[in-house]
Amino acid sequence: MVMGKPGWCQIIETDVLVVGGGFGGLWASLRAAQCGSSVTLVDKSFAGKSGHSYFAGGAMMALLPGEDPDQYLYDIALGNEWLVDQEMVAAVFATSYDRMKDLERFGINFRMKGGEYVWTKARGTQHVKNLWPEGATGADEVTLLRKVALSSGVNVINHIYIYDLAKDERGRVCGALGIGVKDNQEFLFRARSTILATNSGSYRGHHLACELQGTGPFMAYDAGALIQNPEFHYINIRPIKHEIEGSGILPAIGARWKNAKGVPFMKAYDPMLEDRAPVYKIVVAAAKEASRGHAPIFIDVEGMNEEQREQFRILQVSHGWMPLLFQKCEREEGYNPLQNNIEWQPAYESNKLGLRCDRNGQTSLEGLFAAGMARALGINPFTGWSITSCTWSGYIAGESAATFAINTVREDVDWTILDEKRKLFFEPLKTKGGHDPDALVHEVQRILFPAGVLILMSESRLQEALERVMHLKNERLDCIRASDVRELIKAKETQTMVLSAEMTLRASLMRKETRENIFYREDYPRCDNENWLKWIMVEKGKNGDIKFSKENIPFKKYKFQPDRDNLIISQSIIV
Ligand SMILES: Cc1cc2nc3c(=O)[nH]c(=O)nc-3n(C[C@H](O)[C@H](O)[C@H](O)COP(=O)(O)OP(=O)(O)OC[C@H]3O[C@@H](n4cnc5c(N)ncnc54)[C@H](O)[C@@H]3O)c2cc1C
Repeated sequence: MVMGKPGWCQIIETDVLVVGGGFGGLWASLRAAQCGSSVTLVDKSFAGKSGHSYFAGGAMMALLPGEDPDQYLYDIALGNEWLVDQEMVAAVFATSYDRMKDLERFGINFRMKGGEYVWTKARGTQHVKNLWPEGATGADEVTLLRKVALSSGVNVINHIYIYDLAKDERGRVCGALGIGVKDNQEFLFRARSTILATNSGSYRGHHLACELQGTGPFMAYDAGALIQNPEFHYINIRPIKHEIEGSGILPAIGARWKNAKGVPFMKAYDPMLEDRAPVYKIVVAAAKEASRGHAPIFIDVEGMNEEQREQFRILQVSHGWMPLLFQKCEREEGYNPLQNNIEWQPAYESNKLGLRCDRNGQTSLEGLFAAGMARALGINPFTGWSITSCTWSGYIAGESAATFAINTVREDVDWTILDEKRKLFFEPLKTKGGHDPDALVHEVQRILFPAGVLILMSESRLQEALERVMHLKNERLDCIRASDVRELIKAKETQTMVLSAEMTLRASLMRKETRENIFYREDYPRCDNENWLKWIMVEKGKNGDIKFSKENIPFKKYKFQPDRDNLIISQSIIV
């Protein structure tokens, strides 16, 4: 470690810098270290004990030996309504079993019965299998991965918030700027290659998602990187009082979504998958039922039999944080989530935008890679159950970043740009009597979260929401205030959320169609394959505006394609 050129920061030099210590970042750091690089992993919290990964059930999608990879690919392509990179999906499944076996070698066992893996069907799919860790959760998996990364020589540094990327004099990304959340110490991490693994963004929709603010993808956007899928979201459905997991697994083992009249309603919305439909479809259905006066919505656990309840207990409530929550429900609220029907409602989890990457995890910026949900992986169902895709993306990003690092000569950092970025980050400290970041986030939530905005979308409501977001941006964001480092970080996150809200509303206005698994426009209720088999891409325009473009999905390279008229799938294999 040396003092920085201008003396305000410590410089830490490394071959590969990884930002974020969830599945994406830990696998990336481990793989880069295995490939011979010196690796530094930085996390704003505690790597392996924060982010989404720590809360996960730990179930992994895996293609078991002897199974048909095309069935898996087909399921995911269909669940994503064709807006997914099919070559990437095939690559994820091709190594899914190996990575699961790696986890077993490290010390996590996956449940077996009679010599076979125990599995449940992944939500929204017909064939894809989820395998469950034995007496363990995602928390145990990432805690273990952290240990393996440490023992492989990865330098893990906790409690440093990365607020921007650094570039060298040739314009390549060459590391990142950070600040200690506990001691205000400033850092420049100088790296030959940098991997962002900070997850996607959110608006603090509920406490399991409150860690996600999208700073990673958005700092890359600011540096010129391409972002993909800004119009899509992961809106889950959860009990109104407690954040119990179960919207994926409960229907997989027999529970049914019912409305206030006690009528199971999902068959009307998805005749094939019914209660196991993709989550967005369930959320749209619940909102429609509510708008017809059929709220509250609940998942009928009273109708489950004891065997089904026991299966849920074994898979989800035998370990991790769920048993504590179940006890709390009984103790404080007087209900048992497996015995008593309670109200469930949509809860915003995260957006689905991510950095556009090539197959090697390289973003559109030289020297910058992405892993986990920070890169565009897909919409649903691939990314509701995303440990496998995050693992794959981390593994390949680590490998590619290590190769890039070996072949890269260090150039001088562009200190002029760095100084500007630092000045911008600290600006809210100078604002006297400005706006409280939390108040602005609450305002963003009030704009985006009503069911009529991002669930049942329409031109007029999206437009009205956009006007309110633009008012926030133009009138209040410039005078956001902070009195210490924690508030500075909140200010940065708030700026990111407002930008993200603008981006998502503008992109949602552009997509004039409905894809029921992932995107519902009341005013354009049809799927428009003629015009909308496309991805929306975003980059920062020359004068700072958001520049949108559309990209055709390259079906000529893919195995499956939809019928252009009515979405009946022609399974034509195009060579
Ligand atoms: C309750 C719950 C249960 C789930 N269960 C499953 C499951 O059983 N199976 C499955 O396949 N999927 C599951 N998922 C989804 C899956 O767990 C996540 O999508 C996945 O773990 C995301 O991994 P990640 O590495 O991209 O991000 P994360 O795990 O969120 O890690 C991101 C890390 O980046 C750090 N970070 C963020 N910004 C900064 C910054 N500016 N500076 C420094 N550090 C930063 C954070 O502190 C965090 O540690 C679940 C998700 C939730 C919420």
